[in-house]
Amino acid sequence: MRLVDGEATNIKITTSDDLLLAEAIAADRSREASARQRIGTGYDLHRLVPGRPLILGGVTIPSDRGALGHSDADVVCHAVTDAILGAACLGDIGRHFPDSDERWSGASSLDLLARAVALARHRDLQVGNVDVTIVLEQPKIADHVGAMRAAVAAAIGIGVERVSIKGKTNEGVDAIGRGEAVAAHAIALLK
Ligand code: MG
Repeated sequence: MRLVDGEATNIKITTSDDLLLAEAIAADRSREASARQRIGTGYDLHRLVPGRPLILGGVTIPSDRGALGHSDADVVCHAVTDAILGAACLGDIGRHFPDSDERWSGASSLDLLARAVALARHRDLQVGNVDVTIVLEQPKIADHVGAMRAAVAAAIGIGVERVSIKGKTNEGVDAIGRGEAVAAHAIALLK
């Protein structure tokens, strides 16, 4: 004989009244689950200069100029990393991976993203989905979106169907429109 914990809400359903009670218990649990969801946003911008590779979402894109930065200057990974850290209330990418620290010099931003996911996991938070908008005048990124989604999903450790990446130009307006910079906006849901 041994004692085990009981579960008072695990009721036996016999009559239609029992079913009403069970439905109310299930609805309460789903409200609790959504209350545990967290959301965060991220934004990043890097200057574009000749002689640097253009790396977006871990994918090197043929371009006459690339993003300037201490690491690989991947605005997609940086924005997603900040969105995840933001949702977990863990500060930002600069706090965890400062560019003054030689460890992150030339670092793969996919690696930094995976580290941020691990930090969130320590708080018992898993990434539900992410959505990204890249703002870039040229080159066109449509042919590379599939590879980017796959790389970002692998770094996070979720299915590719939970990673959305979209592209926009800035219609020739401001520094991004003149081709002097690339930016990314990201949002992440954690559960
Ligand atoms: Mg950055």
